[in-house]
This record gives sequence, structure tokens and C-alpha cells, in this order.
Amino acid sequence: MTSHRPIEDRLVIATHNPGKLVEMRDLLATYGVGAVSAGELGLPEPDETGTTFRANARIKAQSAAKASNMASFADDSGLAADALNGEPGIYSARWAGPNKDFRFAMNEVQTRLMKVGAKAPERRRAQFVSALCVCWPDGHLEEFEAKVNGTLVWPPRGDKGFGYDPMFLPDGHSQTFGEMSSDDKHGLPPRGRGLSHRARAFLKLAEACLERR
Ligand code: IMP
Repeated sequence: MTSHRPIEDRLVIATHNPGKLVEMRDLLATYGVGAVSAGELGLPEPDETGTTFRANARIKAQSAAKASNMASFADDSGLAADALNGEPGIYSARWAGPNKDFRFAMNEVQTRLMKVGAKAPERRRAQFVSALCVCWPDGHLEEFEAKVNGTLVWPPRGDKGFGYDPMFLPDGHSQTFGEMSSDDKHGLPPRGRGLSHRARAFLKLAEACLERR
């Protein structure tokens, strides 16, 4: 059995994205782990120069661990559309532009899908992917990755969640992530076995490094 390092009672969440911060804080709270965000500590936002979700999560966690001298937790995530060869992928946040306008980003996805003739649901398959990394000040890393498969709908539906949630219909469900409550989107135990990419990756992390306190 591989041995993992347990997470203590406090972590830095290495994100400046308010939507993700809320989700990550909620997930950690169920395990009694308190969290302070990189934004609250005034830590710099490193350039995400990696070419994979995993590499970018690692850059963010390492940078925050170094700057704060505390164990730091980062997520890198995004939407990958099959018909767009995995785009927007690691550029999911950038497609929203400097104003972080996700109506614009969703329009861009839709425009590109139409350009490649992806009108039928089977041509509009996509995944949300989440790579999680915990980095300790001594450089130790724990890394976990998960995805959720679904279909991209148009027009977008719902005003809950964030980012591309309103156009993502997860397999086996009739509501988009934008129409679901946060509890339904994550589908965490005891009600579910993990639905969102972030919840699924988080459950792997919890299994390896967290105990309910
Ligand atoms: P990151 O901060 O570089 O990981 O950016 C990830 C981007 O992917 C976010 O800004 C969102 O646009 C998108 N994304 C990741 N996870 C989700 C999700 O759960 N719902 C909607 N959009 C997401």
C-alpha cells in the first residue's frame, strides 16, 4: 500500500477564484479542516505555465506553500470538449477574458462547436477535469485527478454555480450544473458517491490524506 501524508487541521487554499474558493472551503470543512485563501494572505498569483491540469495545480500549490510556509492546496480544472480536441482545457479561465465573462466564454464554445458542425448531443460530449495538489513547505506532494462526463447544451441553463456550469449536463442527470444546488453538483456521501470532477478528486484525496474529525 502506498503511504500518503495526512493533512493537519489547517491549509492554505491556493486559488484567487472566488467560486472555487467557496467550493474547496466547503469540501474541507466537512473534514474539520480550516482554510485560509491565498488571496486573503496576499500571496502572489503564479503564472500557470504548465501544459496539463496536473502541472498547473502543482505550480499553484508549490508557490503558495513556499510563500506561506504552510501546507497548501490547489486545484486546476477546466472543461474539455471532445469536438474541440479538448479545448478550452487548461485555457478554460482565459477564454472568459480579462473581465472573467463566462457568458462570453460559453458563447465562444458554442460558436466553435457550430463551426465544426457539432449540433447533435453525441457530437457535444465534454468532460470537466479537476487536478488537486497538496504541497507541504518541505516539498512533499500529494496529487489526485478526476473527471465527470457530460454533454454541452445550448442555450445555457441555470444561474447557480460558476464558469461553464450552465452549459454542462452531466451524464445521467436532467439538470445542468447551473441548475443544481451545490450539494447536488458535488453529490458527496452519504447522499451520493461524488458527482462533480472536484468532488470526485476530493474524495480520492480525503480517502488518502484526511480523516473526519
Ligand atoms: P483555473 O482556476 O485555472 O483552474 O480555471 C479553471 C476554469 O475552468 C474556471 O475558471 C472555470 O471557467 C472552469 N471550471 C472549472 N471547474 C468548473 C466547474 O466546476 N464549473 C464550471 N466551470 C468550471
